[in-house]
Amino acid sequence: MEEAIDMPERKAAFLELELAIDHARASGHHMLVALVDMDRFYRVNETKGTDFGNHVLEVIASRLGEAGATLAGGHFHGTSRLGGDCFQIVIAIHEQELVRAAQLLEAIKFAVERPVADGEQELYLTSSIGACVYPKDGLTSEQLLCRAELALYRSKENGGNRVQVYSSDDTVRMNRKIMIETSLRPALVQRQFHLSYQPVYQLDNGRLRGYEALIRWEHPELGNVSPEEFIPIAEFNGLIVPIGEWVLREVCKRLSDMLRYDGLDHLRISINISSKQLMDPSFVSTVVNVIDEYELKAESLELEISERQMALHETQQTAAALSGLHAAGVRIVLDDFGRGYSSYTSLKYLPIHSVKIDKSFVKDIDLRGADRFIVESMIQLARRLGLEAIAKGVEFEEQMQLLKEWGCQYVQGYLLGMPMDPTQLDSSVFRRTEEIDG
Ligand code: C2E
Ligand code: CA
Repeated sequence: MEEAIDMPERKAAFLELELAIDHARASGHHMLVALVDMDRFYRVNETKGTDFGNHVLEVIASRLGEAGATLAGGHFHGTSRLGGDCFQIVIAIHEQELVRAAQLLEAIKFAVERPVADGEQELYLTSSIGACVYPKDGLTSEQLLCRAELALYRSKENGGNRVQVYSSDDTVRMNRKIMIETSLRPALVQRQFHLSYQPVYQLDNGRLRGYEALIRWEHPELGNVSPEEFIPIAEFNGLIVPIGEWVLREVCKRLSDMLRYDGLDHLRISINISSKQLMDPSFVSTVVNVIDEYELKAESLELEISERQMALHETQQTAAALSGLHAAGVRIVLDDFGRGYSSYTSLKYLPIHSVKIDKSFVKDIDLRGADRFIVESMIQLARRLGLEAIAKGVEFEEQMQLLKEWGCQYVQGYLLGMPMDPTQLDSSVFRRTEEIDG
């Protein structure tokens, strides 16, 4: 739903819906209004050309028509293109049949996703469907489309390739999202952000390796809003660039304060970097300038790039940015290691120093299951490639012992230290060192 919607097509879809509503009102039927959006369709246009893309969309439109007519019998109102690769389908349905709405939508999804012939080969696509019900979820075409869109949005947000039927929670969530989006811009000026620091320790000798800086937001009305909630919104509207620069400056300031003390010059602080920042042409020079401004050694700063966000090597801009940072001496950590689609490719092509093993794998290593072998081999692989292995999300002693046995060099997690306020940092420098040394 990110692309601009073609207005004439949208008007036609509105009109079709208006007619269907008139009909439903007269006959006393209920209606299922669904939006079917093809997942990552831009890839078809990109790799096969727009002519082939248009052909595929025509095939899909005709399949939708057939599926609607077959599944809904005489109650089918039709399908129309809403713009781009999104279709609207309207089916009249008896109240008693509403229980099988999801089943009906799954059948439509199944019909749409049959492979499309591409010369000798076959093209496999998936779709996301958002739907709502007339009159329960809305009485006008405007309301119905808006609610079907909200359901579709949730489907995409949950990874796509699924059917979602509108619930009133979707409206609550969207209102919260809009509120977060509108208050993000003033938040920076009004100093509502601060950073929390979570320690990372060297496993064989218990020495503090450094910290990961994690952003916190105290919203005046909503209270604490998790970065997991607001960072994706900031990425979407571009505010991640100034917010990320604020994080960078704060951390460099903290490092320059900390490194004044004797014996602490080995400490590193890492910050999380979004792919949108890497795409910003001035990112590398900003990082280099801020490091210079605070007279830091480049290797004191680490940038964590998440493997989950995207195939990082795919765009030339991000690859060039990472090479530039690497050349400047800044350390790069591949975060969420194992969660992405292309872990091995990332290891092969990206100039990284360390991998941070995702906490979803570390979580269950103390139970007898596959995660044990996975984490052990991740550590071996990293070490054979000459990279540091950091395990995050370490919560239990047994997990730490296993990681030690497997040769993992660094650990981070609630067991060793919660993310903390900068005022608590001093005490963490020595405390845990003594505890691990035992
Ligand atoms: P992340 O990079 O995976 O950061 C680790 C998250 O796990 C943090 O959540 C941390 O509080 C939490 N955590 C630490 N130890 C444990 C543990 O033992 N068990 C469990 N269950 N969790 C643990 P937090 O602070 O809510 O951050 C969430 C995510 O938000 C981060 O995930 C990161 O992707 C993003 N984020 C945070 N700060 C920034 C930032 O400044 N910039 C950007 N772009 N993203 C940020
Ligand atoms: Ca991280």
